[in-house]
Amino acid sequence: MNYADERVDVIRYGQLLVEHRLIQATWGNVSLRVDEGHFLISPSGVDYFRAKPEEVVLVSVADGSYEKGLHPSSERRMHQAIYQNRPDIWAVIHTHSASCAVFAACHADLRSDELFYPCAPYAVSGSATLARNVGNVMRAHDGCIMANHGFVTGAETLAQALAQALAAEYLAEELLT
Ligand code: 13P
Ligand code: ZN
Repeated sequence: MNYADERVDVIRYGQLLVEHRLIQATWGNVSLRVDEGHFLISPSGVDYFRAKPEEVVLVSVADGSYEKGLHPSSERRMHQAIYQNRPDIWAVIHTHSASCAVFAACHADLRSDELFYPCAPYAVSGSATLARNVGNVMRAHDGCIMANHGFVTGAETLAQALAQALAAEYLAEELLT
């Protein structure tokens, strides 16, 4: 399967993250589960407005393997850990939005009456330890603040994941003002 439409969706949601000011430039990443065993993920360090569908990378949920010569997001292990721990999650979005970044810098949980996104302990960006820390929090929550880094959330669809990322940023901003 080539998953042509889903590849376009991954790029389109990367563009939406920029348009909604949830990420800057090429940062952040987007992934979409396409079957029980695989997810598509945005390429590393590529401008979402120049990215091509063939640069989106198909990754194995079981072992993280992907086609040689392609350059998947450096956070693919984090996305993989979420898919492994949460069979109900089919879309993941990682942002660096401004107000969530303040919570991240303070190692603070993001909480309201309706939602609770705990802060996952710090680990180096792209590392297996970060993937484990975030994966553990996401077993019981649909999003988490990533200490000293940003925010990540997962849902059944990309539209829902984007809505959650926006809601988290609005809440963080409100709590800071
Ligand atoms: P990638 O460009 O490799 O997806 O990394 C961006 C990022 O947000 C790292 O945490
Ligand atoms: Zn990041």
